[in-house]
Amino acid sequence: MRARLRPALLAEAVWKVDLQALWARGIRGIILDLDNTIAHWRGDEAVPEARVWIEAAQGRGFRLCLVSNASSARRLRRVAEDLEIGQVGIAAKPFPAAFRRAMAVMGTTPAATCAIGDQVFTDMLGANWLGLTTILVEPISPRESPHTRLVRLLERPLRRRWCSWMARESRPEGPPRRMESAAGDPQKTPRA
Ligand SMILES: [Mg+2]
Repeated sequence: MRARLRPALLAEAVWKVDLQALWARGIRGIILDLDNTIAHWRGDEAVPEARVWIEAAQGRGFRLCLVSNASSARRLRRVAEDLEIGQVGIAAKPFPAAFRRAMAVMGTTPAATCAIGDQVFTDMLGANWLGLTTILVEPISPRESPHTRLVRLLERPLRRRWCSWMARESRPEGPPRRMESAAGDPQKTPRA
């Protein structure tokens, strides 16, 4: 179970994820969580840093899809349409159906898909279930639902453990690795 929770990679924020490295790993599709990953909790637009990163990903040829448990389908649709990316709402993560639908929207296989989110028990568990590459980010802000704040109490020791593993990368079971672009800026290289 613990292996299903553990992300492959850790990043401070979605916009710190190195697109070039993802492409080099064979990733072509990116599933993104909405609340506290690319937007503030209940926010109806991506934060500017996330928007720039998403546009850079599109420019490189990645396909992207939002997958959110948020109850407002209208809000999710607005964000997705604004960014011109796919969306799967009322996702019931960690159940894997929504991740499968997102891969169908993007036309990618599990081996060519990564999922980025701020929650271990929904975003990481569901995506690991299907064998996707998983990237756990820090929540954009501490503002979130009371339910999520409770879940964070369970998440915190796991995050701490993975961070300390990162500092000792020689462990045989392979710790999650921190993956960030050097300058934290989206990379502007030609579409592959
Ligand atoms: Mg979230």
